[in-house]
Amino acid sequence: MPELPEVETVRRGLARLLVGRRVAGVEVREGKSFVVAPGASVERDLEGAAVTAVRRRGKVLLIELDTGYTLVGHLKMTGQMVVRTADERWGAGHPNDSLIGELPDRSTRVILEFDDGTAVYFNDQRKFGWLQLMPASAVAEIPLLAAMGPEPLDPAVDAWPEFRRRIARHGRTSVKAALLNQEVVAGIGNIYADEALWAVKLHPATPVDAIGARKLHQLLDAARHVISLSLSLGGSTDRNYVDAEGRRGSYLQFANVFRRDGQPCPRCGTVLTKLRVAGRGTHICPRCQKLPRA
Ligand SMILES: [Zn+2]
Repeated sequence: MPELPEVETVRRGLARLLVGRRVAGVEVREGKSFVVAPGASVERDLEGAAVTAVRRRGKVLLIELDTGYTLVGHLKMTGQMVVRTADERWGAGHPNDSLIGELPDRSTRVILEFDDGTAVYFNDQRKFGWLQLMPASAVAEIPLLAAMGPEPLDPAVDAWPEFRRRIARHGRTSVKAALLNQEVVAGIGNIYADEALWAVKLHPATPVDAIGARKLHQLLDAARHVISLSLSLGGSTDRNYVDAEGRRGSYLQFANVFRRDGQPCPRCGTVLTKLRVAGRGTHICPRCQKLPRA
């Protein structure tokens, strides 16, 4: 599943390649992948519209148009975006061969066409992802976004006060479940939760109210750090990655504990183990991350 760093990589690519270009039309090849909100119109609000900005909130993409409408998108499990302009081809998101193969292909759900011939292919094997055209003023009220916690990577806002307030509402839940809750903080997936908890030596099953404010602040900083690191490496895709140029590489190389059970802890040498917390496969060092006695 594309995690926050992959979605941010998609956002940056779309922003670089689409801002200022004007939509000529849309080809919907799978009806459930393209939704038009009540009152919105493809002819009036999308066709002829120029892209003014591409933003992101958590893992939700916001392609903003000069008509006052926004194309909201979620990649879900297997979504990816490929842009073809007159002089380049670029793609990111779910890493499969559609990133580099001939398009459209069987996974292409929506094609956005621009008046200069540029095309955006929204490919999605599993069809859980979606694009939705809606008024910009309605975006913040989508239930998914209305309840969403602070952005860990937004340089303009310190996420800590909001994070502290929100995580306090989950005092009795495990710290890992709280970290994965998008209403506590936006966009932290399983990999980042495990890495951040290991970095600050917290057992993932520790109840939130057993953790002091200083430690919680360290935890947020650790999550931010590991997401930034992953972003600088191009993402955290949990298998071999094929980028738009066909280069392969494993971006889990930065991980200290995730999927490293059976290997020595990089800090103390104890064998890392795997357990289940918050219903998710969880990787810890049993020596560095002890559960406090109740
Ligand atoms: Zn250790």
